[in-house]
Amino acid sequence: MPLVPMRVVLDHAAENNYGVAALNVNNMEQIQAIMEAAKETDSPVIVQASRGARSYSQDNYLRHLMLAAAELYPEIPVVMHQDHGNEPATCYSAIRNGFTSVMMDGSLMPDAKTPASYDYNAKVTKEVCLVAHALNVSVEGEVGCLGTVGQNKEPPKSVAAAIHDKDLEQEPEPEMAHLTDPDEAERFVAETNVDALAVAIGTSHGAFKFDKKPDGEVLKMDLIEEIHRRLPNTHIVMHGSSSVPQELTDLLRKYGGDMKQSWGVPVEEIQRGIKHGVRKINVDTDNRIAMAAAVRQVMMTTPDKFDPRDFLKPAREAMKKVCIARMVAFGQAGNASKMRAAGLFK
Ligand SMILES: [Zn+2]
Repeated sequence: MPLVPMRVVLDHAAENNYGVAALNVNNMEQIQAIMEAAKETDSPVIVQASRGARSYSQDNYLRHLMLAAAELYPEIPVVMHQDHGNEPATCYSAIRNGFTSVMMDGSLMPDAKTPASYDYNAKVTKEVCLVAHALNVSVEGEVGCLGTVGQNKEPPKSVAAAIHDKDLEQEPEPEMAHLTDPDEAERFVAETNVDALAVAIGTSHGAFKFDKKPDGEVLKMDLIEEIHRRLPNTHIVMHGSSSVPQELTDLLRKYGGDMKQSWGVPVEEIQRGIKHGVRKINVDTDNRIAMAAAVRQVMMTTPDKFDPRDFLKPAREAMKKVCIARMVAFGQAGNASKMRAAGLFK
């Protein structure tokens, strides 16, 4: 069974200087796209589900999708990760459903909106680590708050609207966000024993990250270097790391999509991060845009089609292409067989 704890994959990535894309899954076509990309590139994979994904697809469907992936691709080590667990109970229900890794995001209160105190964050994260580690499940924590100033953000939602947002992956309002403090990161890892640490370096979730190509002023890569220098054994996680490539947004617009100009995190910057301890890179938006553009293209060019497979097949193919590009760029390609040869999974 190639479902493995995230620590195993990220330790291998650290020893061999590569990063691993963490790709979000909500349905069958997405997990198929990820697994086919992993097979083609011989990559270990991190498949992650947000609370929104778990409520969209229901835990039972999701659990069986990942079991199917493990069954169909025994040569690929698969991490199943809970993205942004908002409270310990969410992490524990993920573990009960077979997830091999959880994120306890205690940087926000359980409403996933209100910034939390350091003490609250350390307390809940430590608790989840104690339980998860006893069950051979890895834990990601977060210090600092994602989202920051100088960005082209959509207007903030009310808490009630945010809770009902189908995505359920919110952020504090930009003025509440703050970058990770390296002193706090060091203390947090010592107190909680997390395996991986999400840091706020100026990225945010969604398609509208920056209103110009990000430079050193908005994207604090030097902060990553400093955190890695202090915490060489903690795997750094970059959230909101879609690149929002121009060709994908162009395609979306060409077929009637309405998306304003935006800049994501350039792949070169992520590669620079990987040189300094970034091991998990969360990519979701790029896959969403790719799938939406593919669906739009079919709908606009062949209006006589109505079989969902006519839309979903090209959508799946488009997502697979993005996944392959990231797997190659982050260096995870070629490492699944090495992990197997090293006896890291059976
Ligand atoms: Zn995130």
